[in-house]
Amino acid sequence: MRRRGGRQSARTTPPVEGPSVVGTVVWLAGIACRVRTEEGEVHVVPLPPRRESGLVAVGDEVEIVLAAAGPQLGAVSPRRTFLARPDPQDGRRALVIAANVDAVVIVVSVVEPPLHPRLIDRFLVAIQLGGATPLLAVNKVDRLSELDDAARAAQLEKLAPYRAMGLEVIECSTKSGAGLDALRDALRGRTCAFVGHSGVGKSSIVNAFDPTLGAKTGELSAAWGGRGRHTTTASTMHVLGDGTRVIDTPGVRAVGLWSLTPRELGRYFPEIGALSSGCRFGDCLHDLEPHCAVKAAGARGEIPAARYEAYLRILRSLREEGARS
Ligand code: GDP
Ligand code: ZN
Repeated sequence: MRRRGGRQSARTTPPVEGPSVVGTVVWLAGIACRVRTEEGEVHVVPLPPRRESGLVAVGDEVEIVLAAAGPQLGAVSPRRTFLARPDPQDGRRALVIAANVDAVVIVVSVVEPPLHPRLIDRFLVAIQLGGATPLLAVNKVDRLSELDDAARAAQLEKLAPYRAMGLEVIECSTKSGAGLDALRDALRGRTCAFVGHSGVGKSSIVNAFDPTLGAKTGELSAAWGGRGRHTTTASTMHVLGDGTRVIDTPGVRAVGLWSLTPRELGRYFPEIGALSSGCRFGDCLHDLEPHCAVKAAGARGEIPAARYEAYLRILRSLREEGARS
């Protein structure tokens, strides 16, 4: 899959004077953040005014200026990758919620909630757009035993197109423990984040990796009691025993595809991008154009219908968004 590094970087203004240290943002809530430096953790509050606070995210490499008035946020290093979601206060704006993540795990479940491929398709584009490697975790496979053979096959068939495109698909269950080692191995030593609808088992998976994390989150809420309201929307980077870093973000249910043009979309559908050189028109969007190699391959069943439909659905949504802005 193609990668595209984050282009977003920023320097907060105005610059402040003083000696500085560098570190990683490991906790962010409201106007405060904590930065892990070689000399320990530094608590920085307040961040710059609201309009700029979206400029820093957990995972960012930052400079802390030890100003007379207290530690201040200095330069934020350019991001290798990012994961963004719509700003709840302005849906057209991107809010970066995790920076420099290597892998983003899309968590879905079977049976309850049932598998939703539409969400997977959109997340896949957004994750690649941010430059991280996507993985798919299909949780609650213990519940497949509740289904009859036909229903079970129908759920699992929905996963075939993702395996075919080369996505790593890991079936797991926090109840039976199945697949958890495989998921853990896939993430070892990397910085990762989990996304998906609520109720699919994201927290259960993270807690299965390290049962002390739930407790730690609780301690943090108590320690930051005075700022309890922010704690509910805090993002935290947990470091597991072997150095794997897990960024815990408050429920990432939606992702935006800002800055993506209809023409660029094919790049993020590897199975479609690979065929587009066979199209008659160099700028073919594989929609209504004649002599389109992608549509022909779809008609022959060489691209899963569900994936081609997902491409068209997202393409049309990009056109609508483009027409609005
Ligand atoms: P989150 O909202 O994505 O963080 O989901 P949670 O981790 O809170 O899990 C939601 C519900 O699903 C809880 O009641 C869990 O006990 C349950 N759950 C999580 N993983 C599994 C699983 O592998 N199998 C089954 N049967 N239930 C699970
Ligand atoms: Zn085409």
